[in-house]
Amino acid sequence: MKTNETTGRPLIDRFGRHVEYLRISVTDRCDFRCTYCMSENMSFLPKSQILSLEEIETIALAFISRGVKKLRLTGGEPLVRRGIMKLVERLGNQLGAGLEELTLTTNGSQLRRHAQALFQHGVRRINVSLDTRDTAKFAAITRWGKLSQVLDGIDAALEAGLHVKINMVALRGENDHEIVPMMEWAHQKGMDLTLIETMPMGLVDIERADQYLPLTEVQEKLSQQFTLTQDPHATGGPARYLRIAETGGRLGLITPLTHNFCEGCNRVRMTATGDLYLCLGQDDKVSLRDPLREGGIDALNSLFDHAMDIKPKGHDFEIDRQKPQRNVKRHMSVTGG
Ligand code: SAM
Ligand code: SF4
Repeated sequence: MKTNETTGRPLIDRFGRHVEYLRISVTDRCDFRCTYCMSENMSFLPKSQILSLEEIETIALAFISRGVKKLRLTGGEPLVRRGIMKLVERLGNQLGAGLEELTLTTNGSQLRRHAQALFQHGVRRINVSLDTRDTAKFAAITRWGKLSQVLDGIDAALEAGLHVKINMVALRGENDHEIVPMMEWAHQKGMDLTLIETMPMGLVDIERADQYLPLTEVQEKLSQQFTLTQDPHATGGPARYLRIAETGGRLGLITPLTHNFCEGCNRVRMTATGDLYLCLGQDDKVSLRDPLREGGIDALNSLFDHAMDIKPKGHDFEIDRQKPQRNVKRHMSVTGG
């Protein structure tokens, strides 16, 4: 690999935050159409605009040479991208050589097929999104998903030796009554559960303000039923954790609306077209694809430096039905959750 003098220099932004975590959306496509994430008739990017798997690998390696220690593959649905396991294998080869963790976020639909290979290539922890264990509700929320397939995928992941964390977006009037049973089920299977506040990203067919459920409210209710203590567990992500004495398990809370966690942000996110977004909730970005195609790795390194100069201080998500113009325009599936 051709390098220049910036190789090896850590990525530190203007606020002194070290960027050590890259999330890569390997595709904007998905086999589900979750109501809070996508509209029913989403249009997707033409394949010509999407980075090849080799280009994704080159960019990931350049990031690793600048101190990135953790990679998460996401999307869209990462496991529907053709050839994805080849990329997992190649990135997995970097584990122990700068890279400390390779992980992914998935809707679980393809896990039965891929769980063992993920483990073989060095993946140890994955996040699986599951908002309900009610078959009809699951079909309503995901529009195209099949609950039994996802539950089977989760079992396949556990059988393969993967640690599974369940991600559940808390949706008022939809799945709030399922939070406790979901937590008990997850903990009983040795999985963590993380609750996520719905974020105002992209136009969807539902009214987000109706669904928004502040996790402060959920925590307050849970504390009447369970003994909750702060847990110092940290994964490099934005969740803070509570230990539940009664189940012995951990509950993560991702609270972009009620508790801004930007001061500790160590992340950047790349879309499938090679746009590097410096914050999930802001539009600041650096395009990597064309410079890579024209200038190779040297071009990447100077763009990484520029990215550190413009990484915003933080997001200012707000869910207010009177101010829809304040929503981030792109869908979560573009930047990757
Ligand atoms: N398809 C994979 C999945 O569902 O896990 C990976 C991509 S998905 C965009 C990543 C995570 O973002 C999922 O846990 C999903 O529930 C969450 N998500 C999507 N749209 C969201 C929104 N508007 N607010 C909060 N979380 C959202
Ligand atoms: Fe697909 Fe994940 Fe978005 Fe659901 S949340 S539509 S599974 S990308």
